[in-house]
Amino acid sequence: MATATIGLGLGLVPTHRVTTLSSNPNSLRTRPYRLGLTVRASSADATTSTGDGVENVVIVGSGPAGYTAAIYAARANLKPVVFEGYQVGGVPGGQLMTTTEVENFPGFPDGITGPDLMDRMRRQAERWGAELYQEDVEAIDVKNSPFTVQSTDRKVKSHTVIYATGATAKRLRLPREDEFWSRGISACAICDGASPLFKGQILAVIGGGDTATEEALYLTKYARHVHLLVRGDELRASRTMQDRVYNNPNVTVHFNTEAVDLVSNTNGQMSGILIRKVDTGEESVLDVKGLFYGIGHSPNSQLLEGQVELDNTGYILVEEGTAKTSVEGVFAAGDVQDHEWRQAITAAGSGCIAALQVERYLVSNNLLVEFHQPKTEEVKKELTDRDVHEGFDLSLTKHKGQYALRKLYHESPRLICVLYTAPTCGPCRMLKPILSKVIDEYDQNVHYIEIDIEEDPEVAEAAGIMGTPCVQFFKNKEMIRTVAGVKMKREYKEFIEANK
Ligand SMILES: Cc1cc2nc3c(=O)[nH]c(=O)nc-3n(C[C@H](O)[C@H](O)[C@H](O)COP(=O)(O)OP(=O)(O)OC[C@H]3O[C@@H](n4cnc5c(N)ncnc54)[C@H](O)[C@@H]3O)c2cc1C
Repeated sequence: MATATIGLGLGLVPTHRVTTLSSNPNSLRTRPYRLGLTVRASSADATTSTGDGVENVVIVGSGPAGYTAAIYAARANLKPVVFEGYQVGGVPGGQLMTTTEVENFPGFPDGITGPDLMDRMRRQAERWGAELYQEDVEAIDVKNSPFTVQSTDRKVKSHTVIYATGATAKRLRLPREDEFWSRGISACAICDGASPLFKGQILAVIGGGDTATEEALYLTKYARHVHLLVRGDELRASRTMQDRVYNNPNVTVHFNTEAVDLVSNTNGQMSGILIRKVDTGEESVLDVKGLFYGIGHSPNSQLLEGQVELDNTGYILVEEGTAKTSVEGVFAAGDVQDHEWRQAITAAGSGCIAALQVERYLVSNNLLVEFHQPKTEEVKKELTDRDVHEGFDLSLTKHKGQYALRKLYHESPRLICVLYTAPTCGPCRMLKPILSKVIDEYDQNVHYIEIDIEEDPEVAEAAGIMGTPCVQFFKNKEMIRTVAGVKMKREYKEFIEANK
């Protein structure tokens, strides 16, 4: 068993907060239900369509394209089933969950953070009756109608599918990449930049586009210096980003430079990158403690390979100006079908087109079955007086901050689950409700504490946190497991079950 000392004997400023973390939003909302099959198309078809458990539309993906399609489809009373994803192809909420400010999405004159924007889209879809599942889709059959969509937890039949799975960050596959993945290498500066491993260090970012330049600039908030390694002889990023990079004294741009491998010190920690000048072939070691990838994305079209037409780089081909793929009833939206514009607003626009086309397709094929949401008042869960005034209470399961961690570390007889998060970390937002739901299932057997590594950096450092999200389990003053990143729900459950 690994033992962690987290400096719990230190004198503390007793600024404690007791927080009841937001519970599962779904439980506070009214789920849509089927309303006696109001058929807009011919009633003869009703029994063969949704009446037989066949959905109007399944949407795969929860980026701007997926949620916009969900909003439109839900408002058209289609009760879309949305698979938001979990681990495959990004995180629920999509690529914007890994960015800070989004300054160009219309309607937000002062900008909005990526995670906030996606949270709003999600709530809007849910409000209009979309059925959301945080599950990965593992297989889709669009060769047989109705189509079948198989996720980790369920199988759904549907007349139409909107495929909006976006794109995934590329990796370089350097020889020692796996050895240092999450222990020095990251593909998300926003998620991991604030971690103690990288704070005050010299870091490198690979790439010459918008993603890489944004990562490099973001990292200057925490790092001593950032080297930007660019394979070509110019930056591909927008002019604004280029200016910001060139004007920042804490970023050095290395053109014609590629990474060959990683280098470690005698303790086995990453200590540098072996780089090569592509024009001269000269090799040298660049001393850095961390490496961030910003080398672009590949379309997540694998599930439809061999079923719908793709271009030679894997993007789904759609009829120009529409969301129609080569298979009737299958529509594609967002970055998975767009190698050119790749913006949140264009993804959202194509999601809108896809949903409107689905509705048209269902009507013209006499397949549409409408659903209406019952009108009910939403019950809001407010903090109780007890939560606010009584301060730390050992009998409560969920807590926040280092005061609670230290109290519980010494006093709790239960298994302690600590979630380390950072304010700008999109995957953290995704993990929080999932973990919260798991903790609810084991309410009296666990204590749960959320630590914001920016608010409590010393705790994160003492606990050896290298990136967020990260979960640590403690029992009897011993750290018994660290789980980095977002894992399947059942992994957390199985561990709690075995150690409660
Ligand atoms: C760092 C960064 C900053 C950016 N900043 C901006 C900006 O400021 N403004 C702007 O307009 N654009 C910005 N973009 C681009 C923008 O984020 C994308 O164009 C947009 O998110 C694409 O939306 P999408 O819905 O097509 O896909 P994505 O956002 O990629 O979402 C895809 C979704 O599909 C899900 N998924 C994938 N596979 C599966 C599966 N098998 N089962 C279930 N679900 C699955 C994923 O979980 C994810 O939710 C930025 C991108 C990055 C990486």
